[in-house]
Amino acid sequence: MDKKILLDENEMPDRWYNILPDLPEPLPPPLDPETNEPVAPEKLLAIFPMELLKQEMSGERYIKIPDEVLEIYRLWRPTPLIRAERLEKFLKTPAKIFYKYEGVSPPGSHKPNTAVAQAYYNAKEGIERLTTETGAGQWGSALAFATRLFEMDCRVYMVKASYHQKPYRRVLMELWNAEVIPSPSNMTESGKKILDRDPENPGSLGIAISEAVEDAVKNENTNYSLGSVLNHVLLHQTIIGLETKKQLEIAEAKPDVMVGCVGGGSNFAGLVYPFIKDGDVDFIAVEPEACPTLTKGEYRYDFGDTAGLTPLLKMYTLGKDFIPPPIHAGGLRYHGDAPTLCLLVRHGIVRAEAVSQIDTFEAGKIFTETEGIVPAPESTHAIRVVIDEALKARQNNEEKVIVFNLSGHGHFDLKAYQDFMEGKLT
Ligand SMILES: *Cc1c(COP(=O)(O)O)cnc(C)c1O
Repeated sequence: MDKKILLDENEMPDRWYNILPDLPEPLPPPLDPETNEPVAPEKLLAIFPMELLKQEMSGERYIKIPDEVLEIYRLWRPTPLIRAERLEKFLKTPAKIFYKYEGVSPPGSHKPNTAVAQAYYNAKEGIERLTTETGAGQWGSALAFATRLFEMDCRVYMVKASYHQKPYRRVLMELWNAEVIPSPSNMTESGKKILDRDPENPGSLGIAISEAVEDAVKNENTNYSLGSVLNHVLLHQTIIGLETKKQLEIAEAKPDVMVGCVGGGSNFAGLVYPFIKDGDVDFIAVEPEACPTLTKGEYRYDFGDTAGLTPLLKMYTLGKDFIPPPIHAGGLRYHGDAPTLCLLVRHGIVRAEAVSQIDTFEAGKIFTETEGIVPAPESTHAIRVVIDEALKARQNNEEKVIVFNLSGHGHFDLKAYQDFMEGKLT
């Protein structure tokens, strides 16, 4: 069998998969916090383009990918599916391990799969500027990259702690001409309110979302763009799983276990949603113990941001005011998760596991030594569980097929690896 299973450009899927019609029960709708009624789509038009709102609520199982988006995807897609044979040997496991590698995109993660689509639909509807938030900087850099390709302006509210911890991602965003503002900032009312109370506030994704949404509401030519959680974001990521499906067919392998890390749920959903209907797969969503949304959160309606500007979403949540400890996997520090993923966890179709930071970096080190790729700290959460599953397979002598998403590379996270190597992680 080939180590690397590649698709030709012309084998790239030309439609996304929408899970909404295949959920075990209808998705509880987003609620307007003022009325507690389902939010009127017109209200959301202040910050989202029509086409994305249609996708958000669509009942169509497949949605065509526009040619302009496909053309940009071809800069790095289809991405490889790689058999982790050296990792298997190291673990002495009979399991076959495959990983889908999304780190080959220009910003280095899966996130441009949706950033490009979102920039496209906004530009097509005459929007000239996008705002967003970013934690570790991956989403900000993906949107900076995508807006540049469509010649739009971009402002990124970056969680202040990361702004200082991760200067190189900021430089990357600025290279793509985005404006990067440490959040909380004085640029918005929500930012000012927080700074008045607590000038040293290190920021959070929830706060940065409040700022980016407020900016978009106040500026006519500006929309807001979200990098995870929403249905249309997860939809765009399904290109990952649709490609993986074709690649596994080529490899003549049927997955028994599929694993992904979860921040808001988009890369996990992107990989596994196209497989959910097939059944008979152990789908494992992995989150940090420090931000245990799916494993310890409450299933209820909550705001997506801290200021309470967004509609209420039914999800597992740690509460909108939750400020996670500053772990290195900045992309996994959100207080909620995608409503569709939460529903699948609720129904036991997906199960969730939480892992500790040190265990994930150990897994990342093993992966780097065996497979050669330095994984993003977020992705090491998936790798930790893959290794544990492969060791279980060894104990039980099972020839399982384990597939996971390597959501990004860790080249901008070497400081975190340095701390790990020097024993400074907690
Ligand atoms: C943002 C990010 C994540 C987490 O976000 P999801 O929406 O849960 O996918 C995971 N891995 C990488 C590399 C990221 O950049």
